[in-house]
Order: sequence, then structure tokens, then C-alpha cells
Amino acid sequence: MTWSISSYREFLKCQRKWFFNNKVGSRSLKDTFRREVHLLSELESIDGWRGKIVDYTISEFIVPKLQKKQSINSSEVIEYANKLSKARFEFAKAQRYKEKDLKKTEHDYDYSALFYFEYLESTEEFQSKKIKAWNEIKIALNNFLNNEEILNYLRTAFYLVKQRTLQFKIHDFNIKGVPDLIAFFKNGPPHIFDWKVHYFGTKNYNEQLLIYASALFNCNPHKDFPNDITKYSIYDIKLSEYQLLKNTIRSYSINDECIEDINYYLAEGIEKMKLNNCEKKYEELNIEHFEKTQNLDNCVLCSFKRICKEN
Ligand code: SF4
Repeated sequence: MTWSISSYREFLKCQRKWFFNNKVGSRSLKDTFRREVHLLSELESIDGWRGKIVDYTISEFIVPKLQKKQSINSSEVIEYANKLSKARFEFAKAQRYKEKDLKKTEHDYDYSALFYFEYLESTEEFQSKKIKAWNEIKIALNNFLNNEEILNYLRTAFYLVKQRTLQFKIHDFNIKGVPDLIAFFKNGPPHIFDWKVHYFGTKNYNEQLLIYASALFNCNPHKDFPNDITKYSIYDIKLSEYQLLKNTIRSYSINDECIEDINYYLAEGIEKMKLNNCEKKYEELNIEHFEKTQNLDNCVLCSFKRICKEN
């Protein structure tokens, strides 16, 4: 079974939601209930949508220019993000993700499914959320583009790897992480970055970054990764989380204590999920063994709220 920090956090918040997302949903057309759950699992809030536009613009437009040591024109970046936002909005509005033969992998650029179009909140409220989201996309990208120090630092990297899945095994669990960016340097250890797009970034993300570091250190090396990274220890890997709306960077160092903490966190997370038999197949599981959240605030923006009432 694949274990990621985001799905474990979801499991801790609402086991039922985790069950819908990870065990019930199926693209197959044979079972209409499982197909419906799959389609609902694709929905995202406007805040999630905003974050993905920023991530994609950085990965697909800015990082390639940094890799080629080129200058970056901020108007071109904002224009790229604007076209991307429009394409994704139109895709979501037409609910194209429901098309039977649509292949998600062929729609990396415009794939989008918005909670709003499924649950139809008030149009006025959605319009104001959409305007706010677009303003925040521009703020996040402009903060990044105006940070000459970080841009110049990334230009000194000899290889930049964006959104790469890293996996390693603990017992029967595949621990998975997808760092936003890994910068490899000729004379220095790798540096892992994570972009965050929200104002109230008081949450500490070092657990997530530590799992990325463990994954980079323990995964089977990808073919394109430089060979000489093996000369570094996990303690050398640099970790930074960039709060793009607040324009602050938090960097974390790795020591014995945090390695112990993260190993404990992983062991505890795996154990909790094993106790619920999470590694078993949907057909072997009983929905009643996955508790619904006690905090009804979690249900307000939950994609599964319609079917959750009936099950
Ligand atoms: S509606 Fe509430 S209880 Fe049901 S899956 Fe969503 S968060 Fe959990």
C-alpha cells in the first residue's frame, strides 16, 4: 500500500473520507457507485485550485527558464498563469472530467474539477472567491519573481527536478513524497523546496519535508539524478518551505532528533492504518470500520458530503 503524509493527515481528520478517496473510488464504468465516488474525489476547492495554478506555472514556465539560466519576464509569467487559469476554469465549468473516455494524463495542462460546479454555492460568493484566488495567484508569483536572491541561487544549480515522485519501502508500505523542486548542485548537497500558497501558514511543514528528504535518501536513484549525491548523508540535505503569499522562507536542518521523530511519526502512522486494515482491498473492507469525523466543519467543503449522508 502507498502511504503519503497528505493521505495520512486525511485519515486522521476523517477516516470515512480517506476510505472514499483511497478505497472506493474507481474509474471503471462497471460500478456506478464507485465511479461516482471517483468523480467526487477529483473535486477541489478554489483554494486548492489556486495552489495548483501557482505550482504548475512555477514548474512548467519558471523552472525551465531557471534551468537554462535565462531571464524571466514577469508579465509573461502572469500571462501564462492567466491562460492556464482560464483553461482550467472552462474545463471545470464544462465538467469535462466526467467524460467517459477522457484520459486525465492527456490533460495535464487544463484538467480541473471544481467543488463549486458540483455543489453550486451562490454564484456571487463564487465570483468573489475566484477574483480573490486570481489576485493571490498574482501575489504568490510576483513574490517569487521579485526574490532575486532565491532565483539567482536556483540558477546556480546544475539540475532542477520538479514534481518528481520519490518512493521507499517500510514493511509493506510504499512511502511516497512529491517535492515541488529538488535542486542539485555541482559542489553541494541537494536542496528540497516546497511551495505553499496560503496566508495563514502557521502550520509547521517540516514533517513533510523530512519525509521528502528520507525518500530522496532511501529511494532507488532515478536515472537522471547525479551519481555523486551518494557522497552526501541525509543530514546534509537542505530543506526549505516557501510561503509564497507571505513571502517568507522557512528552512530546516536535519539532525538525529528530527530523524528519530520522523521515523516515529512514520511508524505510528503505518501502525494506525494497519489497525484499520487499510492495506486491504475495497472488497475486503467494511465502510462502517472507517469512522466519520466528529468535527462537522470538516464536512462543509467535503466532496463526499452527498454520498456520505446516504452511507
Ligand atoms: S462528509 Fe464529513 S464525515 Fe463524510 S466523508 Fe466528508 S468529512 Fe467525512
